[in-house]
Amino acid sequence: MSFASEVKYEIVKNELGDICCIRAELAGMVGAGAVITPGKLRFKTEKGVVAQRFFQLIKRLYNFEPESAMTDGGLFDVVVTGDNVLKILRDLKMATTPIRIQNEITRNECCNASVIKGAFLGGGSVSNPQKGYHAEITTSRFALSKDLADILNKYGISPKQIIRNGTHVLYIKESEQIENFLALIGAHNNMMEFLNVKIEKDMRNTTNRRSNCEAANVIKAAQAGFEQRNAIIKIKTMVGFDSLSPELLELAVMRLNHSDLSLSEIGTRLGVSKSCVNHRMRKLLSIANGLEDM
Ligand SMILES: [Zn+2]
Repeated sequence: MSFASEVKYEIVKNELGDICCIRAELAGMVGAGAVITPGKLRFKTEKGVVAQRFFQLIKRLYNFEPESAMTDGGLFDVVVTGDNVLKILRDLKMATTPIRIQNEITRNECCNASVIKGAFLGGGSVSNPQKGYHAEITTSRFALSKDLADILNKYGISPKQIIRNGTHVLYIKESEQIENFLALIGAHNNMMEFLNVKIEKDMRNTTNRRSNCEAANVIKAAQAGFEQRNAIIKIKTMVGFDSLSPELLELAVMRLNHSDLSLSEIGTRLGVSKSCVNHRMRKLLSIANGLEDM
């Protein structure tokens, strides 16, 4: 099951709650996801549990059962017809256009989250955090999209708004905001799951950064070794090794024969300290530099 499906399953497992919140959730679902034509209110979804939730909300609020069927494309289709359409739209304060989430619907603080919950069920999605951080709510209704953004803003969640294929999309890319979003819509288990994945990913990234750093050090050491060898070869060809003191000669030969060793490893082989090797290598480099000036 996709992460988005799991989130939806978790939401619908929650109890229906107070009447005000049931109405608010239905307003979110209808607003984001239902197609309204004269005498017909239709809610289509690919998820059975979401269709069932829509069915339940209507039954609980208006005490009748909408028609439900399966489309040829395998979608769940819940349909309200006749006078009930206007009855529902009036109750949800959606009988006039443009369809919006009116203040009467979110008058009680508790109902804000319910609107978002419904809108997410009606048109929302959230990516698996393993793949990336993205949550969104889509709707064909611009004004309603703005209303949802206003509600989210109240909870410190600031979605971006774009139009994709003629649909209004509110999306969130910031992982902390997605966590807040999941908590707001009551998907606490999936919020924890999201958080765990994020922590694992962060830890992996830190490890990668460290090995990148190690790789950079290896490259740096190889580069330094290369420069040292060039300097030594220059001394050998231009003035000969006879010009070197025994200590410098020892180091020069060792460096030439063992390009893979670090200076401290060379120090160990020669039985001298790292700082002593460094000091002698600087001398060799400066002799080579001096040769350049000749
Ligand atoms: Zn409420």
